Amino acid sequence: MTLMHGRRGLIVGVANARSLAFGIAKAARDEGARLAVTYQSERLALGVRALAAELQAELCLPLDVTQDAELRAVRQTLEQHWGAVDFVVHAVAHARKEELEGPFIQTSREGFHEALEVSAYSLVALAREFAPLLASGVSPSLLTLTYLGSGRAVPNYNVMGVAKAALEAAVRYLAMDLGPRGIRVNAVSAGAVKTLSAAGVRGLRSLLAFAPQVAPLGRNVDSEDVGRAALFLLSDLSRATTGQVLFVDAGFNIVGVPQAPQGVS
Ligand code: NAP
Repeated sequence: MTLMHGRRGLIVGVANARSLAFGIAKAARDEGARLAVTYQSERLALGVRALAAELQAELCLPLDVTQDAELRAVRQTLEQHWGAVDFVVHAVAHARKEELEGPFIQTSREGFHEALEVSAYSLVALAREFAPLLASGVSPSLLTLTYLGSGRAVPNYNVMGVAKAALEAAVRYLAMDLGPRGIRVNAVSAGAVKTLSAAGVRGLRSLLAFAPQVAPLGRNVDSEDVGRAALFLLSDLSRATTGQVLFVDAGFNIVGVPQAPQGVS
């Protein structure tokens, strides 16, 4: 029997094969999970349908997380298809490109709302819509993706850092709300990975060059690393863990003062 054998999971946030959501979906699928995948817009539909086929996903549905009617439609489809859901992965974030460069103090009111709505509130909306299906699931788990910029000031991450701080707080409040129904809510805080949305953050290339010099494991992470850690939070292995943020960043977050290069004292 595999770790996720027969577990029914909804994956929100696959844009392409580099997406962290795709890494998580692949890891879950390899452990026997049954999947439903969503795509945000028709622009991505063709590519995501091909990836869904590669994952042998049973469903591939449109979902813009800002649209309550679409959230309801996905829930209804899954209710008819599976009756219950065992895990939901929320791997969605968005900010206007101009908000992810330059000084944070220039963040516009509209840009702030947009980033918080798509990147943080959407977890609350998703949790509310799927809680009844998760409550009937096996060892149910809701998982989201966050980044170090929630608690530390990272150049250019700007409003997305504020959105991730709100997202992590939402993880704790949702864990408290949903715990009595047996539903666990957690986050993976991934190190920087070159994906479509990460490429929108100015300076990503220098961050990817800097991180391995500082991280105790001396390397960057990839979507497979994230997928493997996600398996822990999606499966029974973490049955007593909720409201947590698990760092998957080769240890980058623990470093206070980077070690001097060898030979320098
Ligand atoms: P990605 O492949 O670009 O995935 C982001 C997904 O969010 C895309 O599929 C995007 O669709 C979707 N999305 C945006 N607005 C949406 C909406 N209104 N409704 C539904 N979906 C929407 O990038 P990723 O790096 O894997 O991001 C996944 C998650 O990991 C995000 O929460 C991100 O902040 C987090 N994360 C990433 C890193 C990193 O370095 N890559 C590190 C830590 C955490 P569109 O492309 O159509 O907008």
